[in-house]
Parts: sequence; structure tokens; C-alpha cells
Amino acid sequence: MPVLSLADVYRARRRIDGRVTHTPLLASATLSRIAGTDVYLKLETTQPTGSFKLRGATNALAELAERGIRKVVTASTGNHGRAIAYAARALGMEAAVCMSALVPKNKVDAVTALGARVVVAGKSQDEAQAEALRLAGEEGFVFVAPFDNLNVIAGQATIGLEIMEALPDTASIVVPLSGGGLFSGVAFAAKRVNANVAMIGVSMERGAAMHASLAAGRPVLVDEVETLADSLGGGIGLDNEHTFALTQELADSVVLLDEVSIGRGIVHAYQEERLVIEGAAAVGIAALLDGRIDRVVLKNGPVVLVVSGANIDIGLHRRLIQEA
Ligand SMILES: *Cc1c(COP(=O)(O)O)cnc(C)c1O
Repeated sequence: MPVLSLADVYRARRRIDGRVTHTPLLASATLSRIAGTDVYLKLETTQPTGSFKLRGATNALAELAERGIRKVVTASTGNHGRAIAYAARALGMEAAVCMSALVPKNKVDAVTALGARVVVAGKSQDEAQAEALRLAGEEGFVFVAPFDNLNVIAGQATIGLEIMEALPDTASIVVPLSGGGLFSGVAFAAKRVNANVAMIGVSMERGAAMHASLAAGRPVLVDEVETLADSLGGGIGLDNEHTFALTQELADSVVLLDEVSIGRGIVHAYQEERLVIEGAAAVGIAALLDGRIDRVVLKNGPVVLVVSGANIDIGLHRRLIQEA
């Protein structure tokens, strides 16, 4: 744990200040009534790239720029890739995003529109990843990992600071959990401010790599399957350096949700909160609606749900609302 310090988080905050949104923390009357306690939503959906990943990407790239590094590469086609592209442009850096030939054109276009170079390589995400590492090894690019990177974690941790400053009596924080960069960061900052804050991670049942790893006591592989919470898919890396240990240390509990529940969270956000959010971001709301957050925890005081991103396929969203 000592590898990350609160000073790192404050440094991250100074670096990203003015480049990312200090997001709103909104009280939810409906969810508060359902939960029987004050419920707040931390709306990372309002970031310019539609997810919190801009915080970690901006901090990591700004730190590299301070060291004179100007070329970065990633293989993420999702929110991390988008954030890297956006942050690189803002900082005047060169970004390459490696994608397999199977990635749909709209995703390629989204990254190109943000000024990053798309490198099409191979026919799978693994082959795209290998190309990213080759560029890093041979062409002077620095690979920026989506979660297992201390500057990324420190960037996500600024969410924890913002929550504790806006609502010092926060009793628990519910965080979507995949690779654990978001969870580790928020939990680290919040518990440094108040060690009694309960930290609850939420993943989908289908392919919860961190949950399986916590159960095994070491990073393990899980099969990646399709899920409404697509931003929560993927492994934590068998060579995980930081987020596994941090999550193990800081998580009070981890909740797993089925697809029906996640869908209900997306629909509730739309109908009751007037929010368009992606599946990964809906898991906190879904866990609360399904009574999956411990009542004892809820009795302790206000609960904050981190609503992590808005980037849902709009056709899928429409379908979920119509079928509701
Ligand atoms: C990446 C992502 C997560 C999970 O973050 P990790 O740091 O990988 O745990 C949750 N929600 C959204 C919208 C994301 O893009």
C-alpha cells in the first residue's frame, strides 16, 4: 500500500485541474426513499469523454509530459482509449490506439475524431495489445495501462477527494469494479480522509475477474463474456502490480449482479433520474434497487454511488427503455 500516498492524489488533482470536470454530486430523492437513507450520485457521466477514465489518463499523460515524454500508446477501444486520445490532444502529445481489424467503424471514427492515430493490427484484442507493446518497445511510445498504473489510480482517486469534501459525513461509497483502478483510487482517498467509510465494489456476474481473484487470493483468469456492463469486462492481468493488492486491502465487500438487474439500473436511471448511463455505471443503482447493499451499512449514513460513464450504445439503450 505505501506505494501510493495522499500527496500523489493531491498532485494528481493539481495536474488535472481545469482539464477534467469537477463532477456534480446530486441527491437522489427516489433512491433515498427506496434505500431509507440519503443517496447521492457522483456523475462522472459529465466528463467531456463521458467517463471518469479521463481523470487517470490526464494525470498519467501530464506526468509523462513533465518528464519530456510525448508519445503514448494504448490498445483500449473503450473509455480508456477515448480518454487517452482526448488527454493527448489537450496536452499536445502524440497518441496511438491499437485496434484489431474487427473493431467496428464507429469506434475507430470516435478515436480518430479525437486526433489519435488508429493502428489496425491483427484480428483480436490480444493481437492489438501485442502491437501496442511493440510500438512501446521499438518506436519510443510509452504504454499507458487502463488501471494498473499508479498515476492512473491517483487520477481516479480525485473522485474520492471530491466526494469527501462535498459530503464529509459520507458513510459508504459504491463503486463499479473491473480492473480496480477506479475502486482502488476512490477507496484509497476516501479512507485516508475517514477510515470508517465503507467501500463496496460492484461487478457483473458474467466475468467478474477481480471478484474471482479476491476469492482465489491471487490474480486469476476468467472467461470474457458479453454483458450489459461491457466497460467492466476483461481481466485484471496475471502480473497485476497494484490494483489487486489495493482492492484486497480496501474493499469492505464486493457485490455481483445479473444482467436483468443491470438492465433495471439503466432503466431506473433514465426514468427516475433522467440520466442516460452505460451498464457499468448502473451497477450501484441496480445493487441498491435489488437490496444488495447491506442494511447495516445503509443505516450508518449517506451513501454515494459513483456513476462512472455514459457511453452506452444508443440503440441498445433505446431497446432497454422500450422493453421496460
Ligand atoms: C473502466 C470503467 C469502469 C471500471 O474501472 P476499473 O478501473 O477498470 O475498475 C467502470 N465504469 C466505466 C464506465 C468504465 O469505463
